[in-house]
Amino acid sequence: MCGIFGISGDKESAKLSYIALFTLQHRGQESAGIASLNKGRLSYYNGMGLVNEVFNPSILSSLEGDTAIGHVRYSTAGSSTVNNSQPIYFKCKYGEAAAAHNGNIVNAAEIKSELVNSGAIFQSDTDSEIIIHLISRSSQKDFVSAAADQLPKLKGAYSFLFLHKDALLAARDPYGFRPLILAKKGKAFIFASETCAASVIGADIIREIEPGEAAVVRGGRISFFRFAAPERKSRCIFEQVYFARPDSIICGQTVQNARYLIGQHLFRELKSLKADIVSGVPDSGTSYALGFSKASGIPYVPVFMRNHYAGRSFIQPDQKMREFTAHLKLAPIKDAIYGRKIVLIDDSLVRGTTSSKIIGSLRKAGAKKIIMAIASPPIIAPCFYGIDTPTQKELIAFRLKEIERIRKFIGADELHYLSLENLIKACGRGDRGFCSACFDGSYPV
Ligand code: SF4
Repeated sequence: MCGIFGISGDKESAKLSYIALFTLQHRGQESAGIASLNKGRLSYYNGMGLVNEVFNPSILSSLEGDTAIGHVRYSTAGSSTVNNSQPIYFKCKYGEAAAAHNGNIVNAAEIKSELVNSGAIFQSDTDSEIIIHLISRSSQKDFVSAAADQLPKLKGAYSFLFLHKDALLAARDPYGFRPLILAKKGKAFIFASETCAASVIGADIIREIEPGEAAVVRGGRISFFRFAAPERKSRCIFEQVYFARPDSIICGQTVQNARYLIGQHLFRELKSLKADIVSGVPDSGTSYALGFSKASGIPYVPVFMRNHYAGRSFIQPDQKMREFTAHLKLAPIKDAIYGRKIVLIDDSLVRGTTSSKIIGSLRKAGAKKIIMAIASPPIIAPCFYGIDTPTQKELIAFRLKEIERIRKFIGADELHYLSLENLIKACGRGDRGFCSACFDGSYPV
């Protein structure tokens, strides 16, 4: 997971990128960067930390020009260091350029070893740097043609933004794993991982960039071309389950609405249920719980106070930090919990350790019964397309296999998962073009 943003046609491009990246902060908290283009010259600034820690007014003012790209990072390939932060700035035979990438390239090791054996020197250990080397070796006459020529060599998940004096180029892999949308603000064209980053700066959403499609903005005009034939559409369904912001629009509906529908399906899948209240693990669990409450008539009552300054536990790269922030971020609201039978909804169960802590704190606060309902199917396989799931043997559903054993591990009185069928139904509204490999082990690539 990472967040990317690009804009061409507004003289405040770097400042608008800053605001947009701030809105995409949930997609990556390790580093942030912006590259801008002014009179054919590139400037860039990258740093470790949150968007508002990396940038200040004087840095933003130094990033001049009407075209810019930005990136917030969370590492799935490569370590958490400033060398791996993006946009990646580079000089090649086509001149200066910068690249921002979201996704994971699954044949990265293979391509990298060929490149290293032929003398290439890498500055970072990310998979993203590979495309730069490929572009610089292309025999095409210009930068855009070189990128179009080389992108098909990459296998796996990528949404790319490239900044070059000739053009701003956006490209999405032929499966469409990671999101990429097109929007417009006045005369400016905008690309972003999520619609929320475009909406925040007052842009109108146009559409998604299609799998295998590239968009080129030059001279104030946009054009589109296919650099690869589209494959089986495989958008990551985990965007709706956990990652994307509730106000972002995916498949023609807000993520909040998809989660609300999921909550309704979850209730209908449970055969019989007696509970006093339904609640969600904040923040994503709240929309699910509201849908569940609507379908069941069971009142929705918040049972946790979330500390919004503690960060998202799943996104921390290090296990020690993950456990620490999990403790820190959720405080039980005792009056809401004591003596009650509670349906508690969470987006997913990964290792099971966070859920067991949450359930432990509900018990301590006097809950009479805890019915855990998971808004997605059991995660049985790791992700190779840019989401930081642990190795297969760390996944609780793979490790313990049976729902009853998982229930015992997390300490709930009951445990229910949503079916994949209803997850796809709620997220796609008739469109079934999703990757669901972490739930069914069926990898598109
Ligand atoms: S394996 Fe899961 S997390 Fe990874 S892209 Fe597919 S649906 Fe998303």
